[in-house]
Amino acid sequence: KQNNEQDMKNALKDKTVVITGASSGIGEAMAKVYASMGAKVVLGARHADKLEALCRSIEQQGGRAAWCATDVTRPEDCKRLIDTAVEHFGGIDVMICNAGISMRALFDDVDLDVLHRLMDVNFWGTVYCTKYALPYLQKSHGSLVGISSVAGIHGLPGRTGYSASKFAMTGFLETIRIENLKKGVHVMVACPGFTASNVRFSALTANGSQQGATPRKEEKMMTAEQVARIVARGIARRKRLCLMEIEGRATHFVKKFAPGLVDRLFYYVMSKEPDSPFK
Ligand code: NDP
Repeated sequence: KQNNEQDMKNALKDKTVVITGASSGIGEAMAKVYASMGAKVVLGARHADKLEALCRSIEQQGGRAAWCATDVTRPEDCKRLIDTAVEHFGGIDVMICNAGISMRALFDDVDLDVLHRLMDVNFWGTVYCTKYALPYLQKSHGSLVGISSVAGIHGLPGRTGYSASKFAMTGFLETIRIENLKKGVHVMVACPGFTASNVRFSALTANGSQQGATPRKEEKMMTAEQVARIVARGIARRKRLCLMEIEGRATHFVKKFAPGLVDRLFYYVMSKEPDSPFK
């Protein structure tokens, strides 16, 4: 365990780490944990007030941080985030595409705009940040990380747009990995399972409004800090796929030989959520 902790610190100490979606949940936890390990963190999200406060609190604790108000659906914002990292810290070692939103609605009922919105944030946000960060990652032989989900390993009912956006991220990142095989860039897809955060509160419903509540017991989930540490270990080991708890591992392995069983399990588990859109 001590070795793990040391490996993570060595991998992140003095490294410039850009994190999208750093104003809440997993992104905020990664910012705090990695700054405490000696990383220079560069934070992007739409809520500038939250980023500024987080940056200030990291600096007050002796850490190094910069921020840039970023809507990842806008390529020009993603470019400004990357420019902020380069201006402040001279380059980029780790780019973490974490900004994301979810949904909950049956495809029969959902406005198509909801799926576009999911793709815009989760998929296109990853593409834009990668586009501008990649030359710096090639120079530093750094890491490109996409925060996907267990819903990016197997389709999650009631989340068509979410699963589709996470599968799209994987296809995109896998191809970036292969194109950069001889350029020393590490590319990792991280797949957290249910993690306590704001994601279910801001998830979109069939008509595109925010759900405003969580249908699950948040206190029984992994914490965002646990996810941040597992991702750090994945970066230190330059893993391609970072699975976390039993849900992710079981889904990944059982899918290989019994995908129909995973279909039925996912249906069963998700239909038991309060107010599930299917029974
Ligand atoms: P939160 O809702 O707590 O955080 C989401 C972050 O994304 C916020 O900082 C939000 O900031 C940012 N964001 C949303 N839209 C945009 C946008 N257009 N431009 C820039 N930033 C944006 O959720 P989590 O921390 O849980 O989610 C982080 C990632 O983890 C997501 O990709 C999610 O899919 C993934 N994940 C989460 C799981 C969970 O159970 N929590 C499970 C598996 C994966 P702001 O509103 O300030 O823009």
